[in-house]
Amino acid sequence: MTEHLAKTPVRSDVQAVIFDWGGTITPWHTIDLRAQWEAFASGMGAIACARNGLAAALYTAEEQAWRRGRTDGSSARLEDVLTAVGLDPQDEATAAGLAAYREFWEPHTFTHPHIPEVWERLRAAGLRVGVLSNTLWDAQTHRGFFARDEVLHLIDADVYSSHTPWVKPRPEIFAAAAQSLGVDPIACVYVGDRSYEDVHGPQVVGMRAIWIPHSDIPEDQQVSHEATPDAVAHELSDIADIVLGWSGRST
Ligand SMILES: [Mg+2]
Repeated sequence: MTEHLAKTPVRSDVQAVIFDWGGTITPWHTIDLRAQWEAFASGMGAIACARNGLAAALYTAEEQAWRRGRTDGSSARLEDVLTAVGLDPQDEATAAGLAAYREFWEPHTFTHPHIPEVWERLRAAGLRVGVLSNTLWDAQTHRGFFARDEVLHLIDADVYSSHTPWVKPRPEIFAAAAQSLGVDPIACVYVGDRSYEDVHGPQVVGMRAIWIPHSDIPEDQQVSHEATPDAVAHELSDIADIVLGWSGRST
């Protein structure tokens, strides 16, 4: 005789906590996505009339890449956006544009000052800390931010969509993040600021989801869905209390 199975899988003890990057590890900033490409075009040395056209084309190419991510779950890379408008990523002028683009972004890349304490508390309790980000940028770029902010040593594994075929909320990318930590997905907690990508996505593979509800997500980036977070964190410092409560570890 078969036994009746519980409707939901029995959760194993929490072993890892995986964090989103933009608006979670970094404080939320509303970015003018056209201005980033105007900075790029100026950095390339494009003359005024060509500058506006190039910036508009890059903006559209990036917007289409993210739209594809929301519809079919496919990832993209910065060089895909550049080649989509006919730029050679290896070209000297493109490199100058990229330098200006990176300068534009730098103020928005800093790790929230509360993150080190949260990660240290989780690690002190024996939990692993992971990062999973939807991003056009490569791992080296993200690790550079973490190294600059002296938190790289607190991360056990990191997965960036730019190095996979997928973006969140595709189940494959959450499974890859869990695997990179050597932990079953049902023993993972995911923390993020976007309900569709960061609550619905991880719950599909059996992770628990903590939602940080304070980012001003642009309406055209929102996807209609239903998801109820397992917990809501209004402050980053709440995360360690929530997770340690679930994991039965003392705080
Ligand atoms: Mg985010």
